[in-house]
Amino acid sequence: MQLKYSALFQQQCFINGEWLSIGGEKEVITNPSNGEVIGHVPVMGANAATQCVDAAHQAFEQWRQTTANHRADILRKWYELMVEHSDDLATILTLEQGKPFAEAKGEIAYAASFVQWYSEEARRAYGEIMPSHRPHSKIVVTKQPIGVVAAITPWNFPAAMITRKAAPAIAAGCAMVLKPAPETPFTALALAKLAEDAGMPKGLFNVITGDAIAIGSVFTTDKRVRKVSFTGSTHVGKILMNQSASTIKKMALELGGNAPFIVFDDADIDAAVEGAMIAKFRNAGQTCVCANRIFVHDAVYDEFANKLAKKVSALKVGDGFADQVVIGPLINAGAVAKVQAHVSDALEKGAKALCGRLADKGQLFVEPFVLTEMDDEMLAANEETFGPVAPLFRFYDETEVLERANNTESGLAAYIYTRSLGRAWRVADALEVGMVGINEGLISTAAAPFGGIKESGLGREGSHHGMDEFLEMKYMLMGGLDQ
Ligand code: ADP
Repeated sequence: MQLKYSALFQQQCFINGEWLSIGGEKEVITNPSNGEVIGHVPVMGANAATQCVDAAHQAFEQWRQTTANHRADILRKWYELMVEHSDDLATILTLEQGKPFAEAKGEIAYAASFVQWYSEEARRAYGEIMPSHRPHSKIVVTKQPIGVVAAITPWNFPAAMITRKAAPAIAAGCAMVLKPAPETPFTALALAKLAEDAGMPKGLFNVITGDAIAIGSVFTTDKRVRKVSFTGSTHVGKILMNQSASTIKKMALELGGNAPFIVFDDADIDAAVEGAMIAKFRNAGQTCVCANRIFVHDAVYDEFANKLAKKVSALKVGDGFADQVVIGPLINAGAVAKVQAHVSDALEKGAKALCGRLADKGQLFVEPFVLTEMDDEMLAANEETFGPVAPLFRFYDETEVLERANNTESGLAAYIYTRSLGRAWRVADALEVGMVGINEGLISTAAAPFGGIKESGLGREGSHHGMDEFLEMKYMLMGGLDQ
């Protein structure tokens, strides 16, 4: 691996300001593009997880006393280091995750933008004074950091899913223990190295790799952890919520989606095709806000399908470091099997493939699909595909498509394309989701509250709402003010 700053590649955990490998067992981390070994990380368990919580708890007692200015300065430094080392960070990210290098650079910029945003927001954890219900008294509300935060993150955005939890938590005055996804630990460890270089005190940001169940069980049951912030599958989110019940932890859950992408007959079709390309094929379709069901009005169905298929057939698939590649490998064999199951099921039930090819045996590269004549009974309509498959469903009117769009337990993102202002408001209001892109295929930004409703989760990340997630209100009634 060619890095300008070789210390970014760490094969040890970062606990209480030290780089550690406890115990002998190591996990092998491979490149999804070619199966080559990138390196190893320690397999840690409950004891090391408790050590992380000990360290974070101690660090929290000091950190909560610091000024917002001080926290802002350290976060700013962390941000600057991420920008300075973005090539190296993106190299590590592409190696372990597979996404094209340009996209990895984009993710690092996006990840850094949360650190920048919350370095600024650190100063704005304002309280309130409210008109009192009694004479000679005041109602005062202050905001205090919630305490030790445990974060568990996925592999699809190995950098951004960490910073959008860590930056607001640290800005708010909290300390963090983090378990990154087993597929992508090196990006997390590189971020920890830069946190160390930025001058974060020991124990403030700890990264542990290893046994997810043992570590997760400490994170969700240790009394000193006051908040669990998780991004991943709905299935695991439910497990963590259950486990956290015994100590009533505050939870943030960013779970799976099943995003509808609706193209009305009054839409700008070229813009809708562009939007679908981004909403569907970013990260090879492996994002929780990916368009999962593309509903197209009958009057524009064929035009949209043909234009989309033309663009999709031109997407170059391959190794993330190769020239012009825009679709990398999927993360693992399980992801490829899921895509295969969704495509085969659709084709067996009467769908047509305008383009696409399944992975060769033993390979993780899928040529992106556009499927037409989909119906709502097919697997791809009911589960998140998490791969480069664009399934097109035909619809005839607004009421019908709204009902179908909402007919899912998920409620994360939705996209609508229309030129009618009235329809845009009407449909956006009625969609049961946390986020709507209106004539926009890319909605993620540090400046906006990201999150879902229904079984897509709890809480928001980004914007000032993302900071409130790590603050508790304290209300004080100050009486006797006439004395
Ligand atoms: P995916 O299927 O996309 O990998 P998961 O929800 O399984 O999504 O994984 C997301 C994160 O949750 C990863 O860091 C993984 O290690 C972790 N994880 C999975 N199962 C558990 C568990 N039982 N307890 C704690 N963490 C878990």
